[in-house]
Amino acid sequence: MTETPQAGAGRARGFSTHAIHTGQDVDEVFGAVVPPLHFSTTYAPDGIGNLRRGYDYGRAGNPTRTALQEQLAALEGGAHAFSFGSGLAAEDAVIRGLLRPGQRIVMGNDAYGGSYRLISRIHGDWGIANTPLDLNDHDRVAAELAHDDATLLWVETPSNPLMTVVDIKALAEIAHAHGALLLVDNTFASPYLQQPLSLGADVVVHSTTKYLGGHSDVVGGAVVLSDDALAEKIAFQQFAVGAVSGPLDAYLTTRGIKTLGVRMDRHSSNAMAIARHFEGHSAIERVLYPGLESHPGHELAATQMRDFGGMVSLQLAGGEPAARKVAEGTELFILAESLGGVESLMNYPHEMTHASVRGTELAVPENLLRLSVGIEDVEDLIEDLEKALGGL
Ligand SMILES: *Cc1c(COP(=O)(O)O)cnc(C)c1O
Repeated sequence: MTETPQAGAGRARGFSTHAIHTGQDVDEVFGAVVPPLHFSTTYAPDGIGNLRRGYDYGRAGNPTRTALQEQLAALEGGAHAFSFGSGLAAEDAVIRGLLRPGQRIVMGNDAYGGSYRLISRIHGDWGIANTPLDLNDHDRVAAELAHDDATLLWVETPSNPLMTVVDIKALAEIAHAHGALLLVDNTFASPYLQQPLSLGADVVVHSTTKYLGGHSDVVGGAVVLSDDALAEKIAFQQFAVGAVSGPLDAYLTTRGIKTLGVRMDRHSSNAMAIARHFEGHSAIERVLYPGLESHPGHELAATQMRDFGGMVSLQLAGGEPAARKVAEGTELFILAESLGGVESLMNYPHEMTHASVRGTELAVPENLLRLSVGIEDVEDLIEDLEKALGGL
């Protein structure tokens, strides 16, 4: 799982070697070790019809974007990767590329709120239905996928913000037995911790805004897959719709990805320390972290993830008022949407990231806080949370 094949070589290169070198060949003109950032929107051919390296126009292709796509494909162990202007733009390309009106998406009932909004309120209006359910209820998943119109199974693990873990391999088998495709939103884990294609998934999507970019300074999304025919459909969406990532965004994402491995190790160890420290704390009703033995998905996560990641959710014993007070009471944990950056963030999903799913089947508890644990010194992070909880 830590290694991806390297063409022509006896042994496979490791994850971080790919992260740093794949798509990053030394520049042929100046020898620049960091490949130049290409802003040009158009490319001069060697005479009519003779494109120099296949590039003609910036929406169709850009060398900086290609470098990112090669890097992303290598990290997920896929044959093809496509980079988009946001995670939701990437998801939209998958749905429009691979589904048709009259078809239906079967999805987890605690999927990212923005994904559900896209699927229900944009694609819903264009005739694509959805069925949210508990993805650990495999009988129900199989029953839904047995219907001909259900052609895509949409999975997020660990899920946002309830940290539910589901079995990618088992769900891939169920989907394929019914002729459906399995998509995994791998944003929370990142390819360093989990590689869904190797577990049988057909399509991986990312919000690269989160761990891949890693520094809270660039919005982006990606689709990674191995099947050539499916890839052609995504490529056509990217080209014909044009929701591509710009050159600077692609460059920043590539730069962030080079340190993904070391960041994820630190995110994971900090999150584990916080989860252990606050499990059993008098102000905390429950700590939701797959790294804890008490988490119902712990053993499964241990089989399909390298480590347990940087996201921790807390349910406060004092209910909604306590959650609101802690959310606004920390100093280092910054109250903000998003996740996956080097700095720790605090989120109150009920009214922030998941406000759009209030009152639906995907609503989240009112006493829930979601922490994106950064890579600061963990003693400082624990002290910060202790102080905010002490004020209750
Ligand atoms: C943020 C996020 C998205 C959406 O990505 P954007 O880059 O914000 O468009 C999708 N899935 C998950 C799990 C996310 O956290």
